[in-house]
Amino acid sequence: MTVTKKAGVLGATGSVGQKFILLLSEHPDFELYKLGASERSAGKKYENAVKWRQTATVPEFAKPKVVVECKPEEFLDCDVVFSGLDSDVAGDIETAFSDAGLLVVSNAKNHRMDDDVPLVVPLVNPNHLDVTVRKLKTAKAQNVKKGSIVCISNCSTAGLVVPLGALVEKFGTISQCMVTTMQAISGAGFAPGVLGFDILDNVIPYISGEEDKLETEVSKILGGVSEADVFVDRPGMTISAQCNRVAVSDGHLECVSIKFEQSPPPSLEEVKQAMRDYVCEPQTLGCFSAPQHTIYVLDEPDRPQPRLDRDRDNGYAVSVGRVRPDPIFDYKFIVLSHNTILGAAGAGVLIAETLLAKGAM
Ligand code: NAP
Repeated sequence: MTVTKKAGVLGATGSVGQKFILLLSEHPDFELYKLGASERSAGKKYENAVKWRQTATVPEFAKPKVVVECKPEEFLDCDVVFSGLDSDVAGDIETAFSDAGLLVVSNAKNHRMDDDVPLVVPLVNPNHLDVTVRKLKTAKAQNVKKGSIVCISNCSTAGLVVPLGALVEKFGTISQCMVTTMQAISGAGFAPGVLGFDILDNVIPYISGEEDKLETEVSKILGGVSEADVFVDRPGMTISAQCNRVAVSDGHLECVSIKFEQSPPPSLEEVKQAMRDYVCEPQTLGCFSAPQHTIYVLDEPDRPQPRLDRDRDNGYAVSVGRVRPDPIFDYKFIVLSHNTILGAAGAGVLIAETLLAKGAM
C-alpha cells in the first residue's frame, strides 16, 4: 500500500503555486493538504482566490479548499511544504517554517546562496539532499524541532547546469562557459510579469538579477559539501551570461559555449555520448516524475525548439542540439528546458520525491 505524505503549498495562487497544485493533484506520493497565500486571499475558497491561468482546469478537490495565511502553525501537520512565494516575503516566512520543524522546498531566491542550504537541480546534484536527510534524521532522533530548507535553482540555471553536470562528471572541470539565454514569458510570473504590449514583436535584453544568478548558482550546484555540511563552490569555473526575454510562452532556450580544463579536450563524439549516457539519480531511485532519459541529444540541425521539444518526458528532461566545435572555446551547443517544470514547480516535486526515496520523511 502506498503511504501518501501531506503537502502544503505557499503562494498557492501564483504562477508557480498553480503548477504545484496541478503536479500534486494526482500524485501517488503526496496529498495536497494546505494552501497558503497572502492575507488578500486567506479565508477565501481556492476557486475564488485564484486567477487560474493554466490550460488544465482547477482540480476539483482544490476548488473548495480554504486558503490560509502563510503561518507555520497552519501547516504543522504537513510532511513537506512547497514554496512559490514572492521573494519580497519568502525569506522570513520560509525561515519561520524551518524553525517550526517543517521541511520547505522553495522556488524563491532568498536562501539559495546560504552556505548551509542545498541548492538543488534534481537531475544534477540530488546528492546534496543527503545533508538534508542527515539533518532531519538527527533532529528526529534527538526529538528536536528543527526543519530544513531546500532551494530550487533559478529557471535558466536549471537548463544550463544539466549538460554541464553531465560533462563535468565525465571529463572534469569546464573552465569557461559563455551562455546567452532566450527566456520564456512565463518565467516572469503573473504580477507584475511581462506586459503583452512590451514583448509583442520584441526581445527584451534585460532580466533583472538573472545574469548574476546564472554566474553564481552553477558553481554551487556543481560544488561539494564540507565535513561540516557546508556547501562549497566548484573552483576553477568562470561563467559569462547574457539574458533575454523573448515572446515564447514556456521553455528557455540557451546558446552555450564551453572550454574544458583538460587539453586536448574530449572529441565531439565523446561529448555527445557523455550527454546521451548521463543518468540522473532520481531515475535510478525510480522517482515518479523522473525523466525516462535525462538529456536528449538531437541531431536535426534546427532543434531543439521550445514549442516542439519543451514537453519531452513531461517537461522533466532537457534537450540539447547543434553540438559542434567552437573556434574560440572548445564546443558550442543549444539547450532547452521547461522553465516552469524543470525550472520551478516540477523540480520542487522531484526534489521531494527524491527526499522521500532517501528516507527524509
Ligand atoms: P506570482 O505569480 O506573483 O505569485 C506570488 C505568490 O506569493 C502568490 O500566491 C501571492 O499570493 C503570494 N504572496 C505575495 N505576497 C504575500 C505575502 N505577503 N504573504 C503570503 N503570500 C504572499 O509569482 P511566481 O511567478 O509564481 O513566483 C513565485 C516565486 O518563485 C518567486 O520568488 C519567483 O522568483 C520564483 N520563481 C518563479 C519562476 C516562474 O517560472 N514564474 C521560476 C523560478 C522561480 P496572493 O495571490 O494572495 O497575492
